[in-house]
Parts: sequence; C-alpha cells; structure tokens
Amino acid sequence: MYNKLFTSIFTVLTIAILVFLAIYRFRHKNFKNKLNEISQKQSKGKLKIITTTGMIKDAIKNIADDYVIVEALMGPGVDPHSYKAKPNDLNSLKAADLIFYNGLHLEGKISDLLENYNKIKPTIKVCDALEYSDIIRDKEFSEGVDPHIWFDVNLWKKCVRYISTILQNKIPKHAETIKLNTDLYLKKLDSLHNFIMSSFNEISQEQRVLITAHDAFGYFGRAYNLEVKGLQGISTAAEYGLKDVSDLIQFIIQRKIKAIFIETSVPEKPIRAVIEGCKNNNHEVILGGPIYSDAMGPQNSKDGTYIGMLEANVNTIVRGLKLGSK
Ligand SMILES: [Zn+2]
Repeated sequence: MYNKLFTSIFTVLTIAILVFLAIYRFRHKNFKNKLNEISQKQSKGKLKIITTTGMIKDAIKNIADDYVIVEALMGPGVDPHSYKAKPNDLNSLKAADLIFYNGLHLEGKISDLLENYNKIKPTIKVCDALEYSDIIRDKEFSEGVDPHIWFDVNLWKKCVRYISTILQNKIPKHAETIKLNTDLYLKKLDSLHNFIMSSFNEISQEQRVLITAHDAFGYFGRAYNLEVKGLQGISTAAEYGLKDVSDLIQFIIQRKIKAIFIETSVPEKPIRAVIEGCKNNNHEVILGGPIYSDAMGPQNSKDGTYIGMLEANVNTIVRGLKLGSK
C-alpha cells in the first residue's frame, strides 16, 4: 500500500520536473535567440574596426561608440613589441572595415602584415597625425624612432583628432555627433594633462627621476619634465646585459634614488636584479608600481581606459617618489 503510494508520488514528481525543465529550456532557448537577434540588429550598419592597442580602441570608443564595433587585438598586459598574430586575429583583420595601428614599429612582429592590409582596405597608422619634430629619435630604439607616443597627452590629442577626422569621413551621417564627442573628449584630455602637471609639481626637481624596465616613458619624461631611465632598449625584445644592470645600479646610488618601478607588460626580473644590486651596495630601493606602459589595465575597469591608465600611473609614481624623498 505504502509502496504504491510512494511510486505514484514519485511518478507525479518526476513528470512535474520533466515538464518544468522542458518549459525552462524552451524559454531559455527563445531568450538566447532573441539576444542574438538584438546583437545582430545592433551591429547592422556599424563600421567594424580593429585596432592593435587598447589605447587606440579607447579613443575610438570615446568619440564614436554608437556607430562602430571596435575591438583591440592586444589586451591588458600584452607586450606589443613581441606580439605575434593569432589565427583569430587574421579572421578579425579580414572582417574589419577599418584597421588602426600605432606605427613607429611598436607592433614590430606584425608591421609587415598590417602594411599588407593597407593594399586591400583602409589601414591607418595613428602616428601619421604627428609632425617630424614630435617624434623622439634615438638610435637605441628599433628603427631609430620611439613609438610610445600616447604618453604625451598633447601628442595623443593630435592622434585623437586624426582618428576623428577619418571616422567623420567614413560615417558622414553622424559626423556632427562624432565631432561633438571629440571636442568633449579633448577637453577631458586637457584636464588629464593639467592633473599630471600639477601632480609632478609636488616632487622636487632632484627626485623627478623615473626608472623602469624598458624605455617606454621618453615622451612622458619630455612632456612632464621627468628624467627617465630604462634598463632595456626601446623594444622589450632588446637584450639587456650585465653592464646595463651595473650602470643603472651606479646611477641609482649616486643620485640617491629611492623608488624604481615595475611595469605590467614587461617581465619583473631585470628590475628585481637592480634592486638586489643596490641592496648589496647598502642602498635600499623601494619597488614601486606596477605602472602601465604598453598596455592598459583590466577591461571594464578605470585603469582599462587611457585616462584611467595615465592617472593610475601618475598616482603610483608620485606616491613612490614621495616615499623616496622622506
Ligand atoms: Zn614599449
């Protein structure tokens, strides 16, 4: 009797669960299909853009987000000097209407690939926005030019204006809005520039020295009056030798520098060797950072934007140098 009752309750429950699962799956599938439809509709008519670095993607998002779909090949923490194209990247580049890249040999390993794309679709070097005198030239750098142009906000403003002009031409229907967005963004970049200036003015001239693992901050130093030293050459692909390490250790000791910085897209090992070397010479150095050099912070975070990345760097550097000056 109990067995029979138990069996019928069990059967009813099983059927109820199966019916519930079937309804849930049907509704879920419908929901997923709806989502796909919406995203296809939203991407319809939008310009598909591929950029190499996150900094260029961020500029485009700030001035034309409603009219484009933009993706960067190089995500957070990626070193552009040594970046090699992945099979997926080739598909993305093929599908793009427009390609933007930094140029000045930043994208060392894929420069030829990008130049070849220029024959079949608009492939724009952002550095073309700059004048000859804007570019830092030094034979230490790959091909004799420093590619880290985004670290001078005024130079980056020229690049943003250049990108904006191209997008206005490509999307004439929304040119007016893109222009308004650009003006608004350029104002934000002016505030960023002023913030950097006033932050470094808190540091004495003697302590305004920025030491990192590679020479990414030449433009930053020139624009904001900081003495910049890097352990490696301009490209992270360049080898650093024992002499570079010992020269840097001597410099740090002589100048009584108290803070040096690690970077997010460059291995920490060489800079740790410098700290050890200073310690062995009875000179304590604080390891500051990490600071962002060739890639921005995590996506969907403040540091994952150009403005956020620079603000984070300035705060980290000022904090480190101030600790050092005590
Ligand atoms: Zn670099």
